[in-house]
Amino acid sequence: MANTISINPSTGKEIATYNRINENELHDKILKANETFKTWKLLSFNERAAYMRKLAEVLENNKETYAQLATAEMGKTIVQSRKEIEKCIWICNYYADNTSNLLANEIVETEASKSYVTFQPIGVVLAVMPWNFPFYQVIRFAAPALMAGNIGVLKHASNVQGCAFALEDAFKQAGFPEGTFTNLNISSKLVKNVIENKAIAAVTLTGSDPAGRSVASIAGQNLKKTVMELGGSDAYIVLEDADLDKATDLATFGRLQNNGQTCIAAKRFVVIESIYDAFLEQYKTKMAAAKMGNPLNEDTYFGPMARIDLRDELHEQVTKTINQGGKLILGGNIPDMDGAYYPATILADLKPGMEGFDNELFGPVASVIKAKDEAEAIALANNSQFGLGAGVITNNKTRGEQIALQLEAGSSFVNKLVVSDPRLPFGGVKNSGYGRELAGYGIKEFTNTKSVWID
Ligand code: NDP
Repeated sequence: MANTISINPSTGKEIATYNRINENELHDKILKANETFKTWKLLSFNERAAYMRKLAEVLENNKETYAQLATAEMGKTIVQSRKEIEKCIWICNYYADNTSNLLANEIVETEASKSYVTFQPIGVVLAVMPWNFPFYQVIRFAAPALMAGNIGVLKHASNVQGCAFALEDAFKQAGFPEGTFTNLNISSKLVKNVIENKAIAAVTLTGSDPAGRSVASIAGQNLKKTVMELGGSDAYIVLEDADLDKATDLATFGRLQNNGQTCIAAKRFVVIESIYDAFLEQYKTKMAAAKMGNPLNEDTYFGPMARIDLRDELHEQVTKTINQGGKLILGGNIPDMDGAYYPATILADLKPGMEGFDNELFGPVASVIKAKDEAEAIALANNSQFGLGAGVITNNKTRGEQIALQLEAGSSFVNKLVVSDPRLPFGGVKNSGYGRELAGYGIKEFTNTKSVWID
């Protein structure tokens, strides 16, 4: 039973070691979670909301500590780590304020004296979560799940166990009853045992396609509901009437935020032929000016990737794309420095069949694609195994909206990067997964939508 080790991707140095739990301890923790469900589900929305507001306070009071931890463990800039904690606070308060409305009984007029739909909790939900937003991804699952009356057990990514334990402690500090939210420091091999445990009602996973397929198939064999939020290779169409300055600002931030490791980030830019060269020239200037460096410095634009192995895999994908005929405009080399750094990189003239077109590039690398007109741009954008969040940049909002509706994605934004917002559902189509998180749609995923009839 190897322990988990957190390594600072900015320096390559070890930060801490966390003990993994054994199978007996795992069993006991799930048992405790299941026991807690019996009382937690009986609380009113208002009672649960009081805990959730307290959790928001704990996050606020410890914002800097948690932000420093996220930056140390996975390398995102300190400025973005603070924003991540702020978003967690928003989500906690959103569900504290809105769950009684989101899950209110729905009266349905029938021949019955009374008939309605009610939304009841289903039990202990396992969350398998990634390292890229180590606090937010967990809160995005936990706030609605717990407000609905469910219990959360977390299998977090091995490289961010410091954040995982900090979250468990935050729930404790907020006064949640023991067993309401538990971190399980286990290897991914033990996830199967957890899913097979009778006490587990459902599973949610955010992460890669292979992890999603494995977890969904085990859950399927056990007839347990899943929500899958997987990768994306989302396209942004830049129309000939777009404000180029705005388009290139958006493309720069879109590709470098979170050090290029955001599932919904813009990754492929499909640009209309008439402005293609001008777009590339401006984009190159802005990407080259974005400062890579120590993520603790307030003026760093982007830091290292989360792990050396992920950086090396990304570099292989870049090299493969170039060998397939993609044009390297900027970056594309492993810098001679400690840590998992990779420079801002632009690959242009990409076509279907090339690595950078077909697969997700999870790092600071942009794929630029030329389209002769709007129809070809839509076809190229939709020519993807993924469909998480796509967008359009144009000066014509009506035209933008029409295109947004034709994009095969869970979210389509016009003139704005796709971002998650607790008021709107979040999720994907095709290999980006299924099910929704956030808003009313997300909280209902892990409820029993029950019909009640009183004759
Ligand atoms: P993974 O998908 O492997 O990891 C995400 C989570 O799933 C971690 O908790 C991991 O645990 C767990 N996990 C991995 N494999 C299994 C499995 N077979 N059964 C059960 N749990 C599993 O992401 P990586 O860290 O390897 O990143 C690789 C790629 O995944 C990225 O390059 C990117 O394409 C994609 N990704 C997408 C994210 C998104 O937001 N959609 C987020 C992160 C990654 P452990 O850490 O112990 O392996």
